[in-house]
Amino acid sequence: MKLKEWGEENFIDFLKSQFSSPSQEIGIGDDCAVLPYKDGYQLITTDAMVEDIHFIKDHISPENLGFKIVAANVSDIAAMGGKPEHAFLTLALPKTLDTLWLKNFVKGIKIACERFEINLLGGDTVGSKKSIFINLALIGSARNIKLRNAAKVDDVIFVTSFLGDSLAGLQLLKIASAMRFPQLVEAHATPEVYPEQGQWLASKTDVHAMMDISDGLDSDLKKLLKASNCGASINLEKLPISNSLKKACRMMDWNPIEMAVTGGEDYCLLGTASANEFSRLAKEFERKFASQVHPIGQVTRQGLEYVENGQHQNIKVKTFNHF
Ligand code: ADP
Ligand code: MG
Repeated sequence: MKLKEWGEENFIDFLKSQFSSPSQEIGIGDDCAVLPYKDGYQLITTDAMVEDIHFIKDHISPENLGFKIVAANVSDIAAMGGKPEHAFLTLALPKTLDTLWLKNFVKGIKIACERFEINLLGGDTVGSKKSIFINLALIGSARNIKLRNAAKVDDVIFVTSFLGDSLAGLQLLKIASAMRFPQLVEAHATPEVYPEQGQWLASKTDVHAMMDISDGLDSDLKKLLKASNCGASINLEKLPISNSLKKACRMMDWNPIEMAVTGGEDYCLLGTASANEFSRLAKEFERKFASQVHPIGQVTRQGLEYVENGQHQNIKVKTFNHF
């Protein structure tokens, strides 16, 4: 069998079956590995980006790419409820790479490290034949953590930002129409991430499960549901869709719901919370962060269904799969 048929998810399940975690340590399967530490936890995560798979050199500036590899990792720390602290950067670079590009890439890493108060402590640099390969490992800490496996039937499912903007930004860059929608391009190139919100949500007992959306709502929600052994009903009319995305969809004849359900790299938080406490929690969140936490559906016993105004909907799901 080829890797293409086996798929990323099955491979990760296989890895998990081969390496059991020592007790009290959470290994493969969540946004970060978790180690008990003093009166809290240490969190460790790593994320890679490969040229022509995750980015096209002509479509993203080196500063933005540097920022984005840090932000993607901060998002995984945020998803557990943690604060990012120390990073290691590994690069595989072709020898023909322009040094100004590389200096600007490092500038982007530095901007992100300053923004999120991260110390870059080391890494590795090697040659590659043709493509650029970037990996960042990030260590953080948390007092309280939330896992993917803690959703309960009847919980409200929520997200912390608009969905689909990053995918729209990427599509616009590909067709050289980026100038018209700077907010969408920004969402793709320098995504917002939510470490403070993650820490706050993790401190609330009424929040049960949490992760971040990096592959797309449909794909990531399925991971949360599988880990929690339950299902979900998502109300499509409640998905937070930005005015910029609505406008771009009208102009480009895209379906905003499909973009919101399948678009990756939004890097917002996806979680579940007690239905009885959700509106109180949402009000507190809004007061504290001057932004909304959007309820988008409920946890059910099994399956994932999309509903619009009470009617079952079939969504064309085109999720990203590495293989
Ligand atoms: P995320 O999208 O949150 O970064 P992934 O889907 O990339 O998470 O990974 C899911 C889980 O599988 C994580 O716990 C990650 O550490 C683990 N994982 C992925 N690839 C590997 C690998 N090559 N070796 C060990 N663990 C892996
Ligand atoms: Mg994640």
